[in-house]
Amino acid sequence: MFDLTFLCDDMFQGLARWLRAAGYDALCSPGVPDGELVRRAEREGRILITSDSRMMERRIIRSGRVRTLFMPRGLTNKEALAHVIRELDLKIGKTRCMTCGGVLKDVPKESVASLVPPIALNAYDDFFRCAACGKIYWHGTHWESIVAALRRAAKKK
Ligand SMILES: [Zn+2]
Repeated sequence: MFDLTFLCDDMFQGLARWLRAAGYDALCSPGVPDGELVRRAEREGRILITSDSRMMERRIIRSGRVRTLFMPRGLTNKEALAHVIRELDLKIGKTRCMTCGGVLKDVPKESVASLVPPIALNAYDDFFRCAACGKIYWHGTHWESIVAALRRAAKKK
């Protein structure tokens, strides 16, 4: 399940962030030409997420060499997430870094004392650091609203 990886086209940058929050390795490379995008999806075995019908006409996709999820247009990020969850029957996993998709590691509160706002340091005890980009996260209200949104998206089956 969590070995599914994704490559989102330009229109789905927001969705890529939400897929990371749901525990998946999801990339988005804005500005990359379509041909390069599909070749990368093939090379890395990623599911291509797009709502570009011209993209779907490419032989590499029609032949099934690149697995593709065609998205309806006009969805909000959360609706798009709910759609992907439903179509691929995804489970919600351990949140990854929403910025880069790196794995989040528990870190001792003391070690991040100089890196997070004092208000967060006072209010919370669980802190995480992205193993890839170093971004710090904590279980605050923002985190909780993300988790709640993921649960809602997963329930719309
Ligand atoms: Zn990161």
